[in-house]
Amino acid sequence: MHEAAIAYNAMEVILEKAKENNLVKINKVRVKVGELTGVMPDALRFAFESASRGTIAENAVLEIERVKPTAVCEECKITFDIDHFNKLCPSCGKFSSSILTGYELYVNTLEGD
Ligand SMILES: [Zn+2]
Repeated sequence: MHEAAIAYNAMEVILEKAKENNLVKINKVRVKVGELTGVMPDALRFAFESASRGTIAENAVLEIERVKPTAVCEECKITFDIDHFNKLCPSCGKFSSSILTGYELYVNTLEGD
């Protein structure tokens, strides 16, 4: 249960941020999830629900922002979309190890009272 651990870690961050901002109730949580993380949104949503139970984030809306994976080619200096299996530059065909996005996994914003 990868997502359960993620949800519990996220909940710690959320509650800490809420305390910093003097929130007594959290209404909405927006998280960024890169597509290369392998995190399933439905599983994360489910895990979030159980992790938030009994906290001030209970019943908060979880918004999952999926981030498309991209890489940059050092030769051509272009940015292009990649996936798990294809990290080749569309211009020169070289394999790129410079991944720009796709591994995001963090709490982006919080809304509450
Ligand atoms: Zn290239």
